[in-house]
Amino acid sequence: MTNRINLSAYNKTQLADFCRELDLPRYRADQLFQWIHLKNAGSFEEMTNLPKALRGELEQRAELKGAHQASISRSKDGTTKCLFRLHDDKLVEAVLIPEFFDDGVADRLTVCVSSQVGCVFGCSFCATGRMGLFRNLSTGEITGQVLSMNAIAEAEYGKRITNIVYMGMGEPFHNYAPVVDSAEILCDPLGLDLSPRRITISTVGLTRQIRAYADEKRPWNLAISLHAADDEKRNQIMPINETLNLAALREALEHYYRTMKQPVTYEYLLFDQFNDSPEDARKLARIARWIPSKVNIIMYNRVEGVTLQRSQEGRLNRFLSELTRAGARATVRRSRGDDIDAGCGQLAIREQDGEGKTIAKNLRG
Ligand code: SF4
Repeated sequence: MTNRINLSAYNKTQLADFCRELDLPRYRADQLFQWIHLKNAGSFEEMTNLPKALRGELEQRAELKGAHQASISRSKDGTTKCLFRLHDDKLVEAVLIPEFFDDGVADRLTVCVSSQVGCVFGCSFCATGRMGLFRNLSTGEITGQVLSMNAIAEAEYGKRITNIVYMGMGEPFHNYAPVVDSAEILCDPLGLDLSPRRITISTVGLTRQIRAYADEKRPWNLAISLHAADDEKRNQIMPINETLNLAALREALEHYYRTMKQPVTYEYLLFDQFNDSPEDARKLARIARWIPSKVNIIMYNRVEGVTLQRSQEGRLNRFLSELTRAGARATVRRSRGDDIDAGCGQLAIREQDGEGKTIAKNLRG
């Protein structure tokens, strides 16, 4: 029973290769794909359309290490957060964020997923960054979070999730292959069959991966966690900027736009008296002109032990009007789920033991 293959980590091609090695017909690979990446099976025994003998053989050769729901909390505003326990007892979080039509019917159902247990980049405002990095998630540990949240969406709102954002724990581009594999799986007609335009992958600005993402013609939306509009301020809150600064980011994004002809979204957490002055807004508007883009202003969810605070409403309004006056397209995202620690990493950090790896300086993208 040792050295069993973890089939949850396999994408469609790898499952097809695995079935070929076992001399199984091609459709068995599709069945396995659907059990793992659509029905979120936790055991081979559940795979009732496979012959019993094959299920026994799979049990001998392989295993399923997905993400299992450990707890669930619901916010007054409808946000649902799940904590997932992984095979090695590590914990990650995913959040389901519903938006409603005026008549109370659910419109958009967005899932925010984690891509790593912890994170190495140590951004000063981020609960996950304070944990350090424990490990990368496998493809199946990412799709498993989405499928569990989808089951909740179907039970609570009678419809499937509509959008996915890779903005939970971890830096998605620091775990590149499983992240793009999982997005591909979630768009597969045999899987959840989501439109690529409904998926957004965010990064702090790992330039090598941004270029690869463009060169590989990846179809999902790209978001940049910017959070400050000049190097001096960005260095203070995001140590990665000391190695990969705004000039490097600009070059990578220009390459992205030349190749993909797709706009990007800049995520900008608004911190009181730190990055919310009219001058900051004008600098941000200049960045927003590098390539076609939109700015998402996000109101900060307080994190224990962090001195940066959410901006006051008056400062937000002044910032927003300066930003739009300077020509940027901007929207404001209100905090959701304040009462359940929905800012990613906040729940897991409370429950996780030990400390992960941290860096940030001298990292090469
Ligand atoms: S903001 Fe993103 S990159 Fe920065 S520490 Fe948090 S998870 Fe990591």
